This record gives sequence, structure tokens and C-alpha cells, in this order.
Amino acid sequence: MIKRRGSGKMGTEVEVEAGGYVKLPTFLEQGFSDLKREVVAKRICCLCGTCVAFCDKIKINEREDGGEPGFVEDYDTVCGLCYAFCPRTFLPLSEIERRIFGEEQKEVFGVYRSCYAVRSKKEDIKGQDGGAVTSLLAYALDAGMIDCAVITTADDHWKPVTKVAKNYESLKEGAGTKYTLYPGVVGVKEAMEAGCENIGFVGLPCQIQGLRKVQTAEQPYEVGKEK
Ligand code: SF4
Ligand code: SF4
Repeated sequence: MIKRRGSGKMGTEVEVEAGGYVKLPTFLEQGFSDLKREVVAKRICCLCGTCVAFCDKIKINEREDGGEPGFVEDYDTVCGLCYAFCPRTFLPLSEIERRIFGEEQKEVFGVYRSCYAVRSKKEDIKGQDGGAVTSLLAYALDAGMIDCAVITTADDHWKPVTKVAKNYESLKEGAGTKYTLYPGVVGVKEAMEAGCENIGFVGLPCQIQGLRKVQTAEQPYEVGKEK
């Protein structure tokens, strides 16, 4: 039951349900011009790539300092998805946690079952801190839990490059942390276009926030496709 209205992180009006949970907006009718004014122009865009991944009308305009999202068509249908999915417009963390994990964060670490310090036993994985993430993805691929993993590799100049890895050999190319911002969520779109449905993703916290918003949003993320 909706009890009152409150203000979101960027001044967006959001509905607050009984118990203090924020109801995620379902159809904001805000277009790219709103996203540009409230996020890109204010230079709080984290270059996660979520808006680009789920709308063909948005592309990253590359620049020396990393680039920013830009509108590349003449007409905006103002469907509101880019605004709804962007982790920098509003971020109702408690509601997202409740929908994903069934509970809210009680400690600074967030919602978790157990904590471990681990190192991969696979000696051919050349990671930064033990290759645990690459090993976990290899297990998920092997067990059929995921069809592919969206990972970030690096070119000869250490520039990040997204890759859709469908086997162990290509998975290993993403081992090791890339210490830079990069719109890695666009790799999810590439994975969907390659026919993958269960997609593993490794990314920065802001990228995960964008994808969690996509996961928990109530509208379809692409017309004609089921989530
Ligand atoms: S996601 Fe919707 S509102 Fe945003 S740029 Fe694309 S068409 Fe416009
Ligand atoms: S979705 Fe990500 S890339 Fe797009 S405007 Fe928001 S923060 Fe920037």
C-alpha cells in the first residue's frame, strides 16, 4: 500500500510504501534530455554503460578523458528506461536488496552469507589477487549456470575491451583487475545479441547498481523481450 511520496536522490519523486520501502518508478516518461541534464551535465556519470546497453539511441562519445553518453538520433520516444536504469538518477538500495536478496543490508558489507579469503587452485589463471572470480565464472560456465560471462580484457595499450566469454580459454583473458572506468555493461547487450540468456557479469559497483536496477524494474527492458 502506498502511504506517502518522498524525494529520490536526484529530486525525482518516488513512492514510499508502508514500512518505508521505496517503490521503484515504473514509467517515468523522462527522456535522454533529463538524463543529460541531471547526470551527464553535472559530471556525475560513472560511465557504467547501462543507458547505452539498453537503448540504441545512446552511444558513448569517446574523448581523451574517457567520454560520455550522447544521443545519436533525431527523435527521442521518451520511454524513460535510460533514466530509470541509470544508477546516478536515483538509487533505492533497500528496495533493490529486498527484491534481489529478500532482506536489507544490516552491516557495512551489505547482504552476505559468509566471508572467505580465497585463491584459485587453477595455476593457468593469471589474476591480481588469486584468480577467484575467474575460477567462479569457470565453474558457473561448466555447471551450465550461465551461457556466457561478460568480462573486461585489455588491448596492447591497456585500454579495456569488453568480451563475451563462452569457454574457459576466453574467460582467462579477463583475469586481473582493470583500474579504470569503462562502460562494461554494453557487453550485456552484446551477449544478448549473441543469443545468451543466462549472463554472468563482472563489473564495478556502479555497473552492478545499474544492472540491479534493470533486474528489479517492473517494465520490460526492451520492447518484445522478456526479462
Ligand atoms: S531509453 Fe528511452 S528515453 Fe532514453 S534515450 Fe532511449 S528512447 Fe529515449
Ligand atoms: S547509465 Fe551509466 S553511463 Fe549512462 S548516464 Fe547513467 S551513469 Fe552514465
